Amino acid sequence: MRYFSRVSENDLDFLEGLLGSRNLSTREEELIANSIDAYQGGFHKPEVVVWPEEPEQVSQILRYCNERRIPVYTRGGGTGLSGTTPIHGGVLISTVKMNRIIEVMDRDMQVRVQPGLIYERLNKELESHGLFFPPDPASASYCTIGGMVACNASGLKAVKYGTTRDYVLGFQAAFPDGSLRRVGFHTFKYSTGYDLVKMMVGSQGTLGVFTEITLRLRTLPEHAETIAAFFPSIRLATETIYHIVRRGLDVAALEFMDGWMTRAVSEFKGLGFPEAGAMILVESHGTRSAVRETLSRVRDIIREHGGFGIMEAEDEASRKRLWDARRGAYPATLRLAKTLVISDIIVPLSRLAEAVEKAYEIGDRHGVKVYCIGHFGDGNIHAHWCAEERGDEVLRKLHEANDEYSLYAISVGGAVSAEHGIGTEKKKFLRLQHPEAYDLLLKVKRMIDPNCILSPGIMFDVDEVIG
Ligand SMILES: Cc1cc2nc3c(=O)[nH]c(=O)nc-3n(C[C@H](O)[C@H](O)[C@H](O)COP(=O)(O)OP(=O)(O)OC[C@H]3O[C@@H](n4cnc5c(N)ncnc54)[C@H](O)[C@@H]3O)c2cc1C
Repeated sequence: MRYFSRVSENDLDFLEGLLGSRNLSTREEELIANSIDAYQGGFHKPEVVVWPEEPEQVSQILRYCNERRIPVYTRGGGTGLSGTTPIHGGVLISTVKMNRIIEVMDRDMQVRVQPGLIYERLNKELESHGLFFPPDPASASYCTIGGMVACNASGLKAVKYGTTRDYVLGFQAAFPDGSLRRVGFHTFKYSTGYDLVKMMVGSQGTLGVFTEITLRLRTLPEHAETIAAFFPSIRLATETIYHIVRRGLDVAALEFMDGWMTRAVSEFKGLGFPEAGAMILVESHGTRSAVRETLSRVRDIIREHGGFGIMEAEDEASRKRLWDARRGAYPATLRLAKTLVISDIIVPLSRLAEAVEKAYEIGDRHGVKVYCIGHFGDGNIHAHWCAEERGDEVLRKLHEANDEYSLYAISVGGAVSAEHGIGTEKKKFLRLQHPEAYDLLLKVKRMIDPNCILSPGIMFDVDEVIG
């Protein structure tokens, strides 16, 4: 027997009464547009898409769907890479109409925003305050703050500034029982019992729907400089990265691209990079003299490890050019590969070089092409498993290689996801990832969402939750 109810005419009447006819759609084009994200995991159509404008509307949708056992999925920018589309159908809440900055609390260095606000827009608005929200995903122009909080996104600057979780001071969220609760504080630290704020960050829409978020902000750096360097081999590049971190140099970004990716972005963006086995990008933030001192030491380490062709970018335009190379990695790969699966593993720093070699070894064994980039200052590797063909069989092969890589990460004390989340892609690893605490994770889910209406099949299978 089917566990979930299908969305009926009565349900649509309820939703239309609550939201108005302009804020819901069952049009095929709309359902299809909301049935995929950036993860290549097939089409999963919702039965209806809704665009609430008020937090109370979100909580009423959840209360109603919980009573009727209708699945509810939330969507921000749809750039997720772990597979969070509505695999059980139901209602899809799009947050795109809840996209305002509510209040910049300049003196408190905080901001209150609605969840559908695009990351890049927030930082543009904050510029005039001399403030910014640092986690800097490569999807910055499209992803929303709600999506970032739900995935604990991070990216290019995490090595200095940390991840989204480090910046969420509080939120308002709607829960399946229909409640709308504020959780958290306006202070930078607290010791006040269980930390529900941190627990909800990274929950991928499985515990509640964020309707407002309070973020801590940082002061825009006085000065920033970026350098790129090229290496004859991957091992020399990873050793360089290791030594930059180990010597405690104050870098704000420490990125790696292997030789294939370096060539691909150079051709894609017309950058004229030299032929190399790997390249790294290093950025430093601070006063001009501190940045100069840090990067001078970085250059010494690069040279000690055979680095060459060092490019220095001091002004905004030349820094942007170098960062465009890094941000161009995903589209550059898509130009050359029709099917693509991206890993998001993270390993202890001492394992970095070994982990990159492991990716090529797994690729060879599975007959799959693989290219590596990543936020190596943190040990976060995005292996890109690629094929020039399309089709289910090809995709299966890429996933097999990626799965083996995830198991490798767990075996060395790492994690299957550093920033993209679990989703449908990696839920099979969740028990292995938390061998002695998996039952506690399930208990949390059951306590907050006993009927498993929130993002069912994402992170946990429905049978496991409803037992
Ligand atoms: C080219 C490219 C580059 C990327 N680079 C990075 C990177 O550098 N770092 C990184 O961390 N990620 C990266 N990503 C992945 C992705 O952009 C992030 O995971 C981002 O945080 C997703 O935001 P979104 O608004 O698109 O969320 P969506 O894809 O819409 O949703 C993602 C998850 O968040 C949940 N969600 C969304 N809004 C809410 C809400 N209001 N309440 C509760 N749950 C919600 C959804 O249900 C879903 O589970 C990249 C993706 C692409 C395509």
